[in-house]
Amino acid sequence: MSKLMIIGCGGVASVAIHKVCQNDGVFDELLIASRTVSKCDALKDKLQGQTKTKITTAQIDADDVEALTKLIKEYQPDAVLNVALPYQDLTIMDACLAAGVDYIDTANFEPEDTEDPEWRKVYDKRCQELGFSAYFDYSWQWAYEDKFKQAGLTALLGTGFDPGVTSVFAAYAKKHYFDTIDTIDILDCNGGDHGYAFATNFNPEINLREVSAPGSYMENGKWVEIPAMSIKREYDFEGVGKKDMYLLHHEEIEALGRNMPEVKRIRFFMTFGQSYLDHMRCLENVGMLSTTPINYNGQEIVPIQFLKALLPDPASLGPRTKGKTNIGCIFTGKKDGKERSIYIYNVCDHQECYKEVGSQAISYTTGVPAMIGAMLVVTGQWKKPGVFTTDEFDPDPYMEALNKWGLPWKVVENPVLVD
Ligand code: NDP
Repeated sequence: MSKLMIIGCGGVASVAIHKVCQNDGVFDELLIASRTVSKCDALKDKLQGQTKTKITTAQIDADDVEALTKLIKEYQPDAVLNVALPYQDLTIMDACLAAGVDYIDTANFEPEDTEDPEWRKVYDKRCQELGFSAYFDYSWQWAYEDKFKQAGLTALLGTGFDPGVTSVFAAYAKKHYFDTIDTIDILDCNGGDHGYAFATNFNPEINLREVSAPGSYMENGKWVEIPAMSIKREYDFEGVGKKDMYLLHHEEIEALGRNMPEVKRIRFFMTFGQSYLDHMRCLENVGMLSTTPINYNGQEIVPIQFLKALLPDPASLGPRTKGKTNIGCIFTGKKDGKERSIYIYNVCDHQECYKEVGSQAISYTTGVPAMIGAMLVVTGQWKKPGVFTTDEFDPDPYMEALNKWGLPWKVVENPVLVD
């Protein structure tokens, strides 16, 4: 039996918390700690009585390492699951080290202030040396490797769907289907319709920054960067149908590129509708996606944060969203000297998710793997000292848990490939 502390109480956290409470044979105690404690209390009130997990709540600013360390030491969890924002990754890792507790998250570090000169110096050097310009990357968290190793603690990074499950699919393909993998195409399709002209499925600030940045992929161990949305393909997705998809930079390319250097090309594609792209281009052109504060009538505002306040709360999309998501990976390579290709994917229905946990499929497909990652760490199945991504452990217990906890997957041989 184990004690988990979850930080954050937004869209993804809500699903992870529901799933932890369903899994009360493993998690007998849960602390939900977030910036706005009323959200934690509301969820506790809803779930108490439906679960054997003993839930408590706390207010915390996860940017404050000292206060967070104190809270972790008081509660003494077996692990901390960070489903706040990527801005808090490093402070939460610091607090976990200080308190001697394992760490788990779903997204790699990104600074809140991209104009911070200290951060910029490191960023500019990395852009030049590695050749990709995304604001988020693994270097900041991989730099904690020695500290976690010496402390005998595990940090499991990026256990959402993508990254997370997609990298587990890669480890599973490598273990069971290939002698060598040559190419990986990760395809993320959201066929959901919420009826709004424009809304984002998860935190708008994180989502819009990801989508408006240049795309990139890895070829023969090197990054190739392209202008945003400049590579487009069409694919026919099971459960959704034909959709346009665009090549984006994405976290797992970096981790897979490092951990599976034999793979010759790794790409990531995400589907977008025309209305979404038109709105995004317009907002970008007028400066609404900027993270640099401006002065308006004597008050400092950050344009993208103001936009977030105008857009529908991603949590409110749940009851309105119809349709399915289909996320997975196409692998090509060789087995026993012969060419082979497979596609591993999950199809998830927005309304089914809403019925089960009161959230749409984007939060669901992230929150379920977050719980699974936490479960594998606290039960010791995925526990070793150091900092790891999800492709660095035995994929089998994770794949089994996906089937059990609501994200069943399929393997299809000889799929249609993306050119
Ligand atoms: P939300 O904005 O819905 O929730 C974020 C939560 O974190 C809110 O409850 C917020 O508090 C809390 N929070 C923010 N800052 C602090 C702080 N300083 N201290 C304590 N709590 C804080 O985001 P999502 O649920 O959509 O996303 C959560 C994470 O999941 C993000 O890191 C995102 O990048 C990641 N993600 C990963 C995916 C994957 O597949 N790997 C896919 C989608 C998301 P408040 O309520 O006060 O605002």
